Amino acid sequence: MVAVDYVDKSASSSNWSTEDSLSELARLVNTIGIRVTGHLIQKLSSPKRQTYVGQGKLDELIGTQETQPIDQLIFDDELTPLQYKTLVAMFPKIEILDRVSVILEIFSRHARTKEGRLQIELARAQYLLPRLTGQWKHLERLGGGIGTRGPGESQLETDRRLIQKRITTIKKDLEKVSKHRALYRKKRQMSYIPIVALVGYTNSGKSSLLKTLTKSDVLVQNQLFATLDPTTRRLCLPNLTKILVTDTVGFIHKLPPTIIEAFKSTLEELQDASILLHVVDISSLHATEQSITVENILAELGIADKPVITVYNKIDLIDYNQFLSSVDRPGTQDFLKSCPENTVMVSAEKRLGLDRLLHNIESLLLK
Ligand code: GDP
Ligand code: MG
Repeated sequence: MVAVDYVDKSASSSNWSTEDSLSELARLVNTIGIRVTGHLIQKLSSPKRQTYVGQGKLDELIGTQETQPIDQLIFDDELTPLQYKTLVAMFPKIEILDRVSVILEIFSRHARTKEGRLQIELARAQYLLPRLTGQWKHLERLGGGIGTRGPGESQLETDRRLIQKRITTIKKDLEKVSKHRALYRKKRQMSYIPIVALVGYTNSGKSSLLKTLTKSDVLVQNQLFATLDPTTRRLCLPNLTKILVTDTVGFIHKLPPTIIEAFKSTLEELQDASILLHVVDISSLHATEQSITVENILAELGIADKPVITVYNKIDLIDYNQFLSSVDRPGTQDFLKSCPENTVMVSAEKRLGLDRLLHNIESLLLK
């Protein structure tokens, strides 16, 4: 496959370079078993309305295809329905994907609970509806049954009708499930057990921390979005306060609004939290950008004002002294400047710094 992105020529406020974003896309794509064989970047002030990148660049691609066939073309943004349809028509033999469809594919492979599956199916159907091109293959990926064409209906109309029907059914099912969840939430609120929620960039080590803190069996994987369904475990703090620690879906740069919307009800769990533990992978070269991405999403979810402990994880992977003295390293200066009281350095894997973390949780709960 070839990954495609454009470089924003106008001064960008974000520190993510196009290359960084593309290499993250490549990691996402690897998660679903696709190997990246090339990439294409174009300088534009905004994506082309019809084709995302310019016609010339696409012609170049068609040229290279003779020597190196391409199965998929993956764009590093959410393609508009118009872009998607234009590209499908231009490259009938190539599967056109974008960041959203890749993330949706990963999510649908990783969702375990009924609610998680329904949320993903809904997001997928809603993503698909405006992008239908009248091909059966669209429907194969949806769980709903494939029906027959009504009298006088075109394939496209049939597909549209079936997807709409499916969306209505999923929404009804989701309502039932969320009623159940609301009941459970209420029961939990009544029990007055404080909840500490883990948030953070995907792969930062949230599940590892939950596992280490609660000595329980939690899925940990060196994969983007291994965890989708909220997992909650009990923990008794050193001062004997009982708390619940909950772990949920991780965040990522350019997380499409469709997906945040799909996970709204799962993310509602975060509203009940007394404290958020923002887990940051300190060994990542993009620790700062990743933290900012997470903070922005928390703000979007309306929970940015909750007390937060920033947990710098994976300190076993860095030379601490070297880290603090490496002024050029992205993030170091910001880290040194901000180093607030509610910051801890830990290694979930090597069980380092956990006492201080637990102590910080205790003090914040007492405030
Ligand atoms: P999540 O996506 O935030 O839940 O991340 P996971 O807990 O699944 O961890 C992602 C990867 O980072 C896994 O391969 C973990 O083994 C690894 N990891 C997590 N914590 C640490 C740590 O403290 N040190 C090291 N070296 N690796 C870690
Ligand atoms: Mg996880």
